[in-house]
Amino acid sequence: MIRFGPAGNSEAFYNEGHKRTTEAFKWLHKMNLDAFEYQCTRGVLLKQNTAEEIGAEAKKYDIRLSLHAPYYINMAGTEKEKLQKSRGHIEKSIRAALWMGAKRVVVHPGGIGKDSRDAAMKRAISFFNDIIKNQPSGELISPELMGKINQLGNLDEIIRFCLVDERIIPTIDFGHLNSRTKGALNSPEAFENVIIRLADGIGWERTRRLHVHFSRIEFTEKGGEKKHWSMKDTQFGPEFDHLVPSLIKYEMKPVIISESRGTQAADAKLMKERFLGCI
Ligand SMILES: [Zn+2]
Repeated sequence: MIRFGPAGNSEAFYNEGHKRTTEAFKWLHKMNLDAFEYQCTRGVLLKQNTAEEIGAEAKKYDIRLSLHAPYYINMAGTEKEKLQKSRGHIEKSIRAALWMGAKRVVVHPGGIGKDSRDAAMKRAISFFNDIIKNQPSGELISPELMGKINQLGNLDEIIRFCLVDERIIPTIDFGHLNSRTKGALNSPEAFENVIIRLADGIGWERTRRLHVHFSRIEFTEKGGEKKHWSMKDTQFGPEFDHLVPSLIKYEMKPVIISESRGTQAADAKLMKERFLGCI
């Protein structure tokens, strides 16, 4: 079974008068959605009782939770103090995820800064390895494929992170991958090649259980990712329909999160309908 849901609350949710995320799960269930990514991108600010309330509501409506960790994390940092802060953000994210029963903690690996890509990657892997080995439930961490070229997290790098521990499931953001490859993700074959490269790297068992982010993303030739758009903004790729044949052919069971700007729940529903229309 493939699960679909939004990243955070949509504009429609608030426009209908809702204020608290605890109200989101009944709302999503009515839309026939069954996943939700809680956003801690500006810091892990929620308290234990709120997180537990969210977890209970999500469970009641069978909504699979994931949590997006703060943007401030940089596993490739060179300063001890900053690395310590990144570690703190990850630890708090894991704690909040456990409170709410979230199954994944999505983390951005970080930027390469002024260093060489290789040196930055070595530092990030060492940091990541340390977290996985020493942090209880560190296996919840899901390194995300990133959209900007100067960020760590191209497809091969994400595979390398996953090789640190066989329990690690990657977050494959196809909009990001399309951005950093300047629109190369433009056919069903291109998507299938990504799935095969992943399976070669981390095996089919993990590849079938991917955590997926999907949205149309504008990019620049030089830098990659520029801006997230919604499903109706068809001038920007990639096309969800190009992923569907691989989902079916390889019997994949991912969680697919829409990161559309403002319309993420409606767009998750749209993707689910497109998928169901093909099986
Ligand atoms: Zn992200």
